[in-house]
Amino acid sequence: MSLKELLGVEPVINGAGTLTRLGGMPLDEEVLDAMAAAGRENARIEDVQAAAGKYLADVCGAEAGYVTAGAAAGLTVGAAACMAGLSPAAMDQLPDTTGLKDEIIVQRAHVTAYSHALRVSGAKLIDVGYVGYPGQGITWGWQVEAAITERTAAIFYSVGSAKGIVELPELVEIGRRHNVPLIVDAAAALPPKSNLKYFIEQGADLVTFSGGKAIGGPQASGILVGRKDLIESVALQHQDMDVYPETWTWRSDYIDTNKLPGPPHHGLGRPMKVGKEEIAGLVVALRRFLDADDEKELQRQRDVLLTIADHLTDCPARVEMEEPALPGPGYPVLKIYLETSGDTRKAAADLVNGLMDNGRPVAVSQGPMWDGAVAVLPTALKTSDAAVAGRRIAEELDRLR
Ligand SMILES: *Cc1c(COP(=O)(O)O)cnc(C)c1O
Repeated sequence: MSLKELLGVEPVINGAGTLTRLGGMPLDEEVLDAMAAAGRENARIEDVQAAAGKYLADVCGAEAGYVTAGAAAGLTVGAAACMAGLSPAAMDQLPDTTGLKDEIIVQRAHVTAYSHALRVSGAKLIDVGYVGYPGQGITWGWQVEAAITERTAAIFYSVGSAKGIVELPELVEIGRRHNVPLIVDAAAALPPKSNLKYFIEQGADLVTFSGGKAIGGPQASGILVGRKDLIESVALQHQDMDVYPETWTWRSDYIDTNKLPGPPHHGLGRPMKVGKEEIAGLVVALRRFLDADDEKELQRQRDVLLTIADHLTDCPARVEMEEPALPGPGYPVLKIYLETSGDTRKAAADLVNGLMDNGRPVAVSQGPMWDGAVAVLPTALKTSDAAVAGRRIAEELDRLR
């Protein structure tokens, strides 16, 4: 059964990467089988989470791990953990942060559309520094340090290509000196595989990755790894907590030991619940991601892009293949610079829209639109779709002549 048959929705050939608005990665059969198998049975979800969390912790070299409903959900529940710790009263109170440490320090270049996910927890972002290079502006360690107060709950770092930032080692050092946890958004920082361990090795306290991007797991899955006490707080605020103290699964850990006065109720993470299907799918996808032959996949990606480039030789565009550049995209990219008359930025927008609206829908990246270009990203693009994508792009470029 296809989406077309089920809902009448046209499938899209995806040359725009693992974007959430296009549904991320097409899932492998093995991942789909795992999800189907999990869907046929019942189990205590906390047991499924615990087993998966142990695997994620092993893979990332962290004390503990948890499956979230995506990297953004990981930021929300991670922030909640930094504010509430192991206090059921604080968990019950969130997102009202009255009386709690509720400030998360963010350098200005890391105030992204995704840092909103931190604020969903009730936390306030305290942004410091400037955006850019010395001369026009930069963020310094002393600016981060000066913002730390008794209300500071965490420091935030977003992995990306921003320049002039306080880098991770210095941020870790500042956080440790003041006993403030560091949350790292590494949602899209894969490949390389080594990044699964890298941020924890550097000293981050919580790190979040998307399950539905390069890992190839279900769209609504993510990885959160880090300090055991913080992941415990995440679990307590994320599990279904319609429980009695006497029969609660975790009574021997938390009630019998007087670690908690009683189980918390449904927490801030409850609306971001994760099903056993997502957990199973993510685990299998991560195994496949780790076992994959990177060189072979890279070659497949290059071949896909070259097939497309072959169709564009007579078009009003200059085509350039960019090799993977770390830090930055861990895959090759085909840049298509428009050589049409008039405003090339507008032509790039017309190309993006034309590819989606006329004939077989093809998505390309609008990322370089300001340079009068579009990009084809190979990560979610099937080899079997490359020729059609090339023909469609040539067709739409011809219309813009
Ligand atoms: C994609 C992305 C997210 C959100 O990840 P989801 O798994 O879709 O929730 C957060 N931060 C950054 C930098 C991202 O690229």
